[in-house]
Amino acid sequence: MKKLVQGNNQTIFDRISDRLFLLMLRYLAQKALKNLQKDTANAAQIQHQVLRDILKLQKNTEYGKKYNFGAIKSVADFQEKHPLTTYEDYRSLIENIANTGDFNQLVAEPIILFQETAGTTGKTKLIPRTKRLFSTYQKAVQAVVGLTESYHPEKKEYGTNYRGLAFANAEALKFTPSGVPRGTGSSGGLRQSKFVQNLLRLKYTSHPSVFLISDYRIAYYCHLLFGLLEPELAYITANFAYNVLQALQTLEKMWPQLVNDIQSGQIDQSLALDVSIREELQSYLKPNPARAEALKTEFEKGFKAILPRIWSQLSHIQCITTGSMQLYKKNLQFYAGDIPIYSHGYGASESWIGVNLEPEKEPAGYLITPHAAFFEFIPVEEVDADIPTTIDLTSLSVGESYEIVVTTVAGLYRYRLGDVLKCLGYYNQSPIVEFLYRQGSLLNLTGEKVSENTIFTALTEAIKLLDNGCQIVDYTTKMEFSSLPWRYVIYIEVAQIFASPPNLKLCQEKMERVIYDLNRRYLKLRQANRIGSLELKLVKNGTFESLKNQMLLQGASHSQFKMPRLIKNSDMMDFLESRVIYQFNKLLEC
Ligand code: AMP
Repeated sequence: MKKLVQGNNQTIFDRISDRLFLLMLRYLAQKALKNLQKDTANAAQIQHQVLRDILKLQKNTEYGKKYNFGAIKSVADFQEKHPLTTYEDYRSLIENIANTGDFNQLVAEPIILFQETAGTTGKTKLIPRTKRLFSTYQKAVQAVVGLTESYHPEKKEYGTNYRGLAFANAEALKFTPSGVPRGTGSSGGLRQSKFVQNLLRLKYTSHPSVFLISDYRIAYYCHLLFGLLEPELAYITANFAYNVLQALQTLEKMWPQLVNDIQSGQIDQSLALDVSIREELQSYLKPNPARAEALKTEFEKGFKAILPRIWSQLSHIQCITTGSMQLYKKNLQFYAGDIPIYSHGYGASESWIGVNLEPEKEPAGYLITPHAAFFEFIPVEEVDADIPTTIDLTSLSVGESYEIVVTTVAGLYRYRLGDVLKCLGYYNQSPIVEFLYRQGSLLNLTGEKVSENTIFTALTEAIKLLDNGCQIVDYTTKMEFSSLPWRYVIYIEVAQIFASPPNLKLCQEKMERVIYDLNRRYLKLRQANRIGSLELKLVKNGTFESLKNQMLLQGASHSQFKMPRLIKNSDMMDFLESRVIYQFNKLLEC
């Protein structure tokens, strides 16, 4: 990668080429946004074209021959010839390709990365990424950049070179036995794409090498250091709300060292930085006592609504706040004050899915990008059917919920992602969807199907009754089958420390009442005593941080980490049980 040359060290040539890159970026971003809007006007046609292109591209692969892709003439034909699939239908084939390198078993083009999914909801999956798949993400990212650009500059007075603070880092890539890199999609993008590296260099306050620090704690410290040095920071961005929250918690904990570093122009010696990166980063720093003093004054006042106080030009925070991230959005608001938090996009390693065109609207809605994949939708009432029907992108009914199914340019066909979405409306022919929940996180003892959304709403309401309102640090659930009637157990960590046992009975009753309102079947099953009363268990401070660390040790990645909202692994259950400090055992009557 080109080493950053800044300020006086930049040659005229460097400056011109940077300027050109920024102009190109702006042009691409606006073009991607316009194309997206144009595509949505012809979504049905684009979808047919996407499917035709995929079948044509892959027809000579072994997989394409098996399903005779060359003879498929219509969407109906494709749906008749190819069943719906899940990852298990591809697992052994993909593992074989990873071992042998023989990608043509599944895809016509080389695999540039085996993307490891977060591994938070089950066994790790390896999702093949080809250049073509990656370019569908780039188009979407460019559209998001276009939106970001049009979203904030009107509000504040920026020069042309305004910058954001991005909390992202690339974990180290591993290699498959056949020598292909494997790692998370975001780490691959940061390490493998020249375009992304140039983007980082010019759009963000951190130097590109900070993004390549594989330990997220060290990377976040360095991101904070360079971000704090920029008083006119324009926005903050990260994949998920969880990433931003962790970074701001790092700031709250480590501000004295950071202020010291800014004051002295020296990076704290205790930070376990690689020597060459330390030397490089050190070369960009010089003492800045005025900024250090201004920051210290604000930090000493406390961290409530700290962001607009230390960055007066900050216009928004951009990170995913829906699904399992809802909780962290609430916690982020403590630091953000009145700075809006914008949930920009919706995607998975398997496929890009949607972009949020209306940053300030609640609930966040994602416009499905018709060029990203061929999409189908299973009506939610049919998700458990042996052969569910699917409907196309342009035929969703507003207000109804569906599981999304994707056929991608990189070898997944009629693949059930497991995400359930609600259609909020349309933009041209393309639906705007709200993320509801993952199928795998549904609590379902005997057909009641209580979603993580319902649990979160109930928990949020219930916790207000504790100690005049508590801040939830994190939570998860399990289904308890050890005695009849079966029931739910909710493990929760709160920020407060109680001097005397909190009234969990009150909270449990409140939670149940909220769930009754949101899920009538749960109520009926409770009344029939087929489900027992749920149990709320409060765990020690730091429990969820330890749980996350255990999951990271077992191969989950931090950059795409999502705390599982339903625990199925017995070691994790034992761990949580061992950390319980308060519980209310007596089962309640319905
Ligand atoms: P991964 O492939 O590990 O990045 O995980 C992808 C999954 O993350 C998706 O299938 C969703 O369940 C979740 N996800 C991604 N974007 C969003 C979003 N905007 N809102 C809620 N969940 C999301």
